[in-house]
Amino acid sequence: MFYKVLIANRGEIALRIIRACKELGIRTVVVHSTVDSNALHVRLADEKVCIGPPEPNRSYLNISSILSAAEITDADAIHPGYGFMAENPDFAEACEKCGIRFIGPEAEIIRLMGDKLKARNIAKSLGVPVLPGSEKGISDEKNALSFANEIGFPVIIKASGGGGGRGMKIVHSPSSFSNSFHAAKAETAAAFNNDEVYIEKYCESPRHVEVQIMADRHGNTIHLGERECSIQRRHQKLLEESPCPGLDDKTRKELTSVAVKLVKSINYTNVGTVEFLLDKDGNFFFIEMNTRIQVEHPVTEMVSGIDMIKKQLKLANGERLKYKQKDIKFSGHSIECRITAEDPKRFVPSPGHIKNLHIPGGLGVRVDSALHNSCTVSSYYDPLIAKVITHGRDREEALSRMSRALEEFIIEGIFTTIPLYKNILNDHDFLSGRIDVEYLSRFL
Ligand code: ADP
Repeated sequence: MFYKVLIANRGEIALRIIRACKELGIRTVVVHSTVDSNALHVRLADEKVCIGPPEPNRSYLNISSILSAAEITDADAIHPGYGFMAENPDFAEACEKCGIRFIGPEAEIIRLMGDKLKARNIAKSLGVPVLPGSEKGISDEKNALSFANEIGFPVIIKASGGGGGRGMKIVHSPSSFSNSFHAAKAETAAAFNNDEVYIEKYCESPRHVEVQIMADRHGNTIHLGERECSIQRRHQKLLEESPCPGLDDKTRKELTSVAVKLVKSINYTNVGTVEFLLDKDGNFFFIEMNTRIQVEHPVTEMVSGIDMIKKQLKLANGERLKYKQKDIKFSGHSIECRITAEDPKRFVPSPGHIKNLHIPGGLGVRVDSALHNSCTVSSYYDPLIAKVITHGRDREEALSRMSRALEEFIIEGIFTTIPLYKNILNDHDFLSGRIDVEYLSRFL
């Protein structure tokens, strides 16, 4: 096993990785920016290296500073968490060139699946259903419009190298196509240094369902079931659960088996997520693959009993999967609420000093957070401050535990989205599982 792992991330995921390393007897090093000197992940790691000022591109996104920190501390592997460096193939490649194991799939696989258009074409060639869409990037407005007319409105314009919902534009009619096309290209160029966009048929009110997969370096691939991630704002997930409420066994079997087939076809290793949209008639369509650990991985851990970060470390170290698919047993239901430091009505960021904090607990309640009393939530980074995860024998029990946990959660000094979740948990449609990706905009 690795002797020392460097964690190239911050916040709750850095702490989550420290916990897994400690349980495996691995020493930890964290890199941090000046504003994070007193952060919990920095205090709980065995070693720390300050790599720069608060701006992410001068610290958490600075490849040479991170690699220098790994070299001076003799770390033999780097865990990138999610966000920041997690899906940067150049970073994965640079790690391997320095003789440091990148905890994730190989750089070439990250590059391949990071290109959504290529990933779509691979899925299509394997017979995995995809929505009608362009096979190549479209740079010319006229060609783009004629393609949109061919597949029929509404359409969605997407960035080939996209992520985080950026560069995505829904277009309902030809009259608004021109503006949306240019706005999508400009947003894509600014966010990803590459303005390639493609067009896909827009699926009306689908559900977002994704499959968790796990693969070793010896050709064994299994899945850990699915997650329902339809509660979204601006195409970004807020609340996730596993299993997916109301999904029939036949569709579940098909979804999980096409996800395994897809990742096997590219010789994928480590953990990853295959994302699908499920339409109102029960048809599913591949949308993309994420080649990293997901924010919402705890709901899968709660129903499968498998520590996915420990598994990532073991798989990156070349260990064989100890389980066959038939050994994976799911138990009960799990839900996660992503609590952010934002005003719960207008979603304006609310950084600041936390004056009083009480973290909920009790049977079936897990909180992944790097908050502590008197800490400061910085304005430089993502506003996610805590993930509340509950588990119950069924959805009803997981939901009642979530309501109880949110009631108990005290965070004073900043605004958080806890009140929003409390309201969702009282909504009849949500409680009865009548959800799709447009649920939240209707609810708000
Ligand atoms: P990103 O990587 O930027 O997060 P995804 O491809 O994962 O983008 O899509 C994010 C969300 O955008 C989906 O969960 C869904 O809500 C919406 N979406 C994406 N493609 C479509 C589509 N073709 N039709 C309808 N909604 C879509």
